[in-house]
Amino acid sequence: MSEMKKDIRALSRAEMEDLMKRLSFERFRADQVFDWLHGKLVSDFSEMKNVPGKLKEALSTEYEITPVKKELVQESSDGTRKYLFRMADDQMIESVLMRYEHGLSICVSSQAGCRMGCRFCASTIGGLCRNLAVGELLGQVYEVSKDGGERISNVVIMGTGEPLDNYRNVLTFIRLLNEERGLHISQRNITLSTCGLPEKIRALAKEELQITLAVSLHAATDEKRRKLMPVADSVSLKELMAVCHEYQDAGGRRLTFEYSLIAGFNDTDEDVRSLKALLSGLNAHVNLIPVNPVRERSFRPPDAGAVRAFQNKLEKNHINVTIRRELGQDIDGACGQLRRSFKTAEGVCCAEDLCKNRYRQKKEHESGQPVFQ
Ligand code: SAH
Repeated sequence: MSEMKKDIRALSRAEMEDLMKRLSFERFRADQVFDWLHGKLVSDFSEMKNVPGKLKEALSTEYEITPVKKELVQESSDGTRKYLFRMADDQMIESVLMRYEHGLSICVSSQAGCRMGCRFCASTIGGLCRNLAVGELLGQVYEVSKDGGERISNVVIMGTGEPLDNYRNVLTFIRLLNEERGLHISQRNITLSTCGLPEKIRALAKEELQITLAVSLHAATDEKRRKLMPVADSVSLKELMAVCHEYQDAGGRRLTFEYSLIAGFNDTDEDVRSLKALLSGLNAHVNLIPVNPVRERSFRPPDAGAVRAFQNKLEKNHINVTIRRELGQDIDGACGQLRRSFKTAEGVCCAEDLCKNRYRQKKEHESGQPVFQ
């Protein structure tokens, strides 16, 4: 993203109308420009064929279509595709396209990196680089959509990053996805997954959205949760569950709780009992994710039989539960495996190194001096 220009894809339709007024263009031009951006998914002002040159010029002096450049695509044996995108500042992010019976679902990243530090997750290993702009959030969906040529029906905000840590942009993103003149993706087909930030969940409740909120629980006691998620040091389960009740009371939508199963750690009968007590009184759905291996971590998933047994025990306790179908594990595209790294002909290339190299080249070019790191 350039320092100077604003992100035109972040404008709502009403804001686009205000802009036309300010620039002294007719009101219908707002719909035209909006269509080009969010319906026809152009990535350059020059592609807006029926828009007058003067308007394109005025727009492009003040605004830009934040670039999201497809760098690499990897395809898994199960058909899942992982995309690596390059941003204007050479940050790299990943998105994953999955095919389900009910259609195509895209998993988008909300930040470059993540500062939440969950111990089983690769996306947080390098820390947080920055929030993604609205155009970069949309750009992931738009580029993948153009690439596949098929309609994407579901969006899950479960890639790298904590979406509620990039609250305003993520909210604008959701509203724009939902626009009739855009991809018109139903809010009911959008899921936002959070590690559980109470103030932000409270704010979200007031937005009156129809999206599904998924809360990463992973353990049913504070003691165990603290071993997995640093956020649990500052947010107790008591506080988290209280805010979940508030959220549900405000909107009535069913909540999803994600529970990554780790062999010998959170898959015992005691865990079933704690989970039952924790979820009592909520309209909840538990999504079990056998933990995906991450190179730097030693967590292992229980075997398939043990996962099913855990599911059965929850069901016997009248807890609504499913096991997440893990897609794209062979391309490091499954939950918690996104790390901005890609396998190329030369071996594994890590996006963080790519970023650093590009950054160094840019500095060297600017200064005419070699930069050592
Ligand atoms: N920051 C958001 C989105 C994270 S990714 C959040 O915390 O919810 C989506 C889900 O995958 C989360 O529930 C996350 O905790 C889980 N996850 C992360 N790493 C994982 C791993 N190695 N195996 C299984 N699930 C993992």
